[in-house]
Amino acid sequence: MSDELTLRKDIVAQGAKLAASGLSQGTSGNLSIRCGTGFLITPSGTPYEEITPAGVVQVDMAGHWDPPLRPSSEWRFHRDIYAARPDVQAVVHVHPPYSTALAMCRMDIPAAHYMIAVGGGDSIRCADYHTYGTQALSDAVVQALEGRLACLMANHGMIATGGTLAQAMWRAIEVETLARQYALALQLGKPVMLTDNEVTQVLEKFANYGLMAAKP
Ligand code: 13P
Ligand code: ZN
Repeated sequence: MSDELTLRKDIVAQGAKLAASGLSQGTSGNLSIRCGTGFLITPSGTPYEEITPAGVVQVDMAGHWDPPLRPSSEWRFHRDIYAARPDVQAVVHVHPPYSTALAMCRMDIPAAHYMIAVGGGDSIRCADYHTYGTQALSDAVVQALEGRLACLMANHGMIATGGTLAQAMWRAIEVETLARQYALALQLGKPVMLTDNEVTQVLEKFANYGLMAAKP
């Protein structure tokens, strides 16, 4: 496993890419990586370009950290995803336009494109709405992620997970692309859904595709 400083630098480096990727701007969204028995997470309300390796906050699974640093207000769902999902090593939460627009309509992303497999199943669910930073939001998110690697969040944004932070970022970009394509298709007509069998075949094939195969 990478040492803590390397993981802190990884969060800073990936955070710097967020605005350019179109996934987030300003202080919206947050990133974390599993570290030791807890995790490292971006500080709350801090523009990504101002985050330093020392400013990344270590949080334990009981939700403790060392003041005066203040972790992202969403530390609960990062913690609860790591607790519920041993397969997840990194979590990216963002508010990108198309994923968020679908989430404002409380829509799931269905299997209208084979890249639905990037989310680990035949749909990317939209988690129920709850106030940001609450345990209720965390519970809803963990539920929407059951058997999945990404989800939308009603009236809020999107979450992507990964075996590495780079993989979680890649997944977040792919989910936003899917959301954009689906929103465009809805304007043209009625998107045709893939069958269960077609999705199963892609899921099997996709397990070894590109960054999907990335392991920690
Ligand atoms: P933080 O700046 O506290 O991480 O909050 C941003 C956000 O996206 C809340 O959902
Ligand atoms: Zn948010």
